[in-house]
Amino acid sequence: MRFSEIIGNADVAKALVNMADSGRVAHAMLMYENEGCGALALALAYVQYLNCGNRRDGDSCGECPSCRQMAKLIHPDVHFVFPVNKGPKSSDDKPTSESYIKYWRELAAADPYFTEADLQKAIGIESKNGLIAVAEAKSIIGKLSLTAVADGYKAVIFYLPEKMNQETANRLLKMVEEPPVNTLFIFITHAPEKVLQTIFSRCQSIRVMPLDKEETARVRAMKPTQDREEYNVFMDLFSDLMNAITARDLMGTLECGEAIAALESREKQKAFCTFAGNCIRNIYMIQQNLPQIADIDPQEQDFYSSVASRCGANFCARSMNNIEKVVAMIDRNVNSKILFTDLVDRMFLSI
Ligand SMILES: [Zn+2]
Repeated sequence: MRFSEIIGNADVAKALVNMADSGRVAHAMLMYENEGCGALALALAYVQYLNCGNRRDGDSCGECPSCRQMAKLIHPDVHFVFPVNKGPKSSDDKPTSESYIKYWRELAAADPYFTEADLQKAIGIESKNGLIAVAEAKSIIGKLSLTAVADGYKAVIFYLPEKMNQETANRLLKMVEEPPVNTLFIFITHAPEKVLQTIFSRCQSIRVMPLDKEETARVRAMKPTQDREEYNVFMDLFSDLMNAITARDLMGTLECGEAIAALESREKQKAFCTFAGNCIRNIYMIQQNLPQIADIDPQEQDFYSSVASRCGANFCARSMNNIEKVVAMIDRNVNSKILFTDLVDRMFLSI
């Protein structure tokens, strides 16, 4: 990944280039973003830049041996940690990221803007929560204690440190605090408030900003077909739901709740909640006469305008609040049929 391929966040990219050029490379960095805004892409471009043998014009060359290894995510000194669980794609009893590295590489090389739900699906653990367990810490400490294969930096890109338990953090702490020479940790989080304080406090933090409308469209257009299919499935579900609610069709509304609960994984259900939250924000913006800051595809304009005219003044605020509560409950493994029946019922009543 080169910086020139990054969508949005030019200021963050520039700050990373400056850090590398000036030699002030933070040995522990925490990038936090709303899911899908490109923190992983930035981290990959940064590490590629640091290790490029032929940097030019504030970017890596994309051609030297190190850049070519980075493009395939097979650089021997760059390691990846991400939440895993037992599943059909690995026979390991205590799986670590290494058990699924092949699937991670396929996913991240094709689309570094992937979501947590995409990752769960790629490694075949859709129905489980991914975790970063203590076996992972042991594996990383082992890898970092070996001499670097190449001359440049060794890096650990740590995706979703909020999924790490205390024991894992304790094991890693010393390494994060005093890493071997020319070694850096980059943590990428979607929930900085959930990252253990012992880790958080040792990192330089960088905010990766939300993408604007045009940048979001570019990310969407770049994604593999299956992601666009997901967008269509979510949009169909959301419009069926809003049409049923505004038509005062309770049975239709409850059927939509069942269809959401039947999405194949908890991560997918959460992804739908994020999607629906964004759609409701768009409705709210139209109601507030601010359509220019809503993120609306031209072909969906009529749908949004029509729904906005049929919703009451408090519908959007209440619904966004209810959706947030549902996301928290999904994380606590509450039965999804009950959750989504309750959610659509509340939306039906607050119209
Ligand atoms: Zn290069």
